Amino acid sequence: MSTTAYDFDLLVIGAGSGGVRASRIAASFGAKVAVVEDRYMGGTCVNVGCVPKKLYVYASQYNNAFKDSQGFGWSGTTAKFDWSTLRDNKTKEISRLNNVYDNMLNNAGVEVIHGRGRFVDKHTVVVNNQTYTAERILIATGSWPYIPNFPGSEYAITSNEIFDLADFPKRIVVVGGGYIAVEFAGIFNGLGAQTTQLYRGPLFLRGFDRDIREFAAKEISASGVDLRFNSNIAAIEKQSDGSLKALLEDGSSIEADTILYATGRKPNLQDLGFDNINIELDDNGTIKTGENFQTSEDNIYALGDITAGMDLTPVALAEGMALAKTLYNNEKITVDYNTIPTAVFCQPNIGTCGLSEEAAKEKYSDITVYESNFRAMKHTVGGRTERTYLKMIVATKTDRVVGIHMVGEDAGEIIQGMAVAMKAGATKAIFDSTLGIHPTTAEEFVTMRDPRA
Ligand code: FAD
Ligand code: NDP
Repeated sequence: MSTTAYDFDLLVIGAGSGGVRASRIAASFGAKVAVVEDRYMGGTCVNVGCVPKKLYVYASQYNNAFKDSQGFGWSGTTAKFDWSTLRDNKTKEISRLNNVYDNMLNNAGVEVIHGRGRFVDKHTVVVNNQTYTAERILIATGSWPYIPNFPGSEYAITSNEIFDLADFPKRIVVVGGGYIAVEFAGIFNGLGAQTTQLYRGPLFLRGFDRDIREFAAKEISASGVDLRFNSNIAAIEKQSDGSLKALLEDGSSIEADTILYATGRKPNLQDLGFDNINIELDDNGTIKTGENFQTSEDNIYALGDITAGMDLTPVALAEGMALAKTLYNNEKITVDYNTIPTAVFCQPNIGTCGLSEEAAKEKYSDITVYESNFRAMKHTVGGRTERTYLKMIVATKTDRVVGIHMVGEDAGEIIQGMAVAMKAGATKAIFDSTLGIHPTTAEEFVTMRDPRA
């Protein structure tokens, strides 16, 4: 029951990672909550992000797995990939998840309002010509892909469209050097497309540890992606057969069936009615928030991709949880943004937690670096040349592990456990005294004895 004169205690705009978590938890504490969603339940992550992406990553790994199996004695596997089967099975799974989200909110007592929300004033939102009032309003509208404007840019697609292509592209060009570009180059290369990735700078994955970036670039190139640095598209032309021609800045050209732009995302602020309220933005267009996700309007909050910080689902979830507990359970919860673990689901995976060597050098007067570079046991008999790289950075004075990085199979899974140890403040001595699980790749993290020279 609402304790105020408004329709709701909390009205959330956006049923994505952050919005769903905040509304469900707030309702569990007795708040009267509504969530407004105009597109898809579960937001970017469930519909055009983490979930379908990971399903496609799994699909792309069978190609190598079939080849590896021959060294282990398997034969007769004639592998043929059918895009429509993958795409349609993915769509079925996403529909199932959409229903799960709908039911979860209904069961929690959250009212789901389907439509686009727009502020009328700081306590009122209009959806489908109907107005709703709330004591507090949370903006959790996420982000939207960005394509730079250039001749023929209308022929490029984004991650929003890539999952549902009618036909499998035999030749694909991926532009960008961030998470999405690297992951999708790996997906389409693995699925059998002739894949070119173009990045405008000298080395992709800016912000990650330099050794990791260099090692990943080598492995990704070796896996078959035509990875080109210092390279960018000047224009795209549509050819008479419907295919595309990318004209590069260096005067060369590439023909392709699909050109995917993964050149970043912008805050999803469009048509939110900000003329009617007073919301301050940061320089990069995200919503400025202070303590407890409060915006410049004291009853309006914002979290997730629409605010500054890392655009990751677990970050939005943690923020949604913190807000609900703070506002409706009298707890003062803050989110710890240090040592956020993250993975890039390329092939091989990149997993990372804590500081890069470059950042650690800036923060600490003395660091010790440990590393290990080897061919995983599976590939000895399987026959792949792929290598694995592990790196650990230690603050020498305190012996505390301040950065852990990996390029190799299942890096995402392995680094999650390492992140717990880092959060607990583990020292290198604790890693050294931990017994390994043999034979695994992860055991290398507890057996790296000699510092890098
Ligand atoms: P969103 O999940 O984007 O939700 C916002 C919701 O608001 C949307 O459903 C939108 O339709 C709705 N909305 C917007 N405006 C309005 C309005 N005016 N009225 C009503 N509804 C509105 N993160 C990871 O941690 N791991 C991954 O592997 C990963 N992979 C990704 C892969 C891709 C291709 C992409 C694009 C992103 C990926 N991310 C990943 C990032 C992750 O998806 C986002 O960080 C996360 O979804 C942000 O949550 P959010 O709640 O801020 O916004
Ligand atoms: P990112 O910001 O990570 O990367 C954008 C890339 O595009 C950068 O390499 C950037 O180059 C390049 N770029 C930007 N503008 C241009 C331009 N005009 N021309 C050419 N290149 C350009 O964004 P993404 O779109 O890859 O992903 C968005 C966010 O979603 C990620 O940052 C991440 O937070 C999240 N995500 C997380 C995933 C995960 O957890 N596994 C997976 C996918 C997404 P430069 O570096 O030079 O600026």
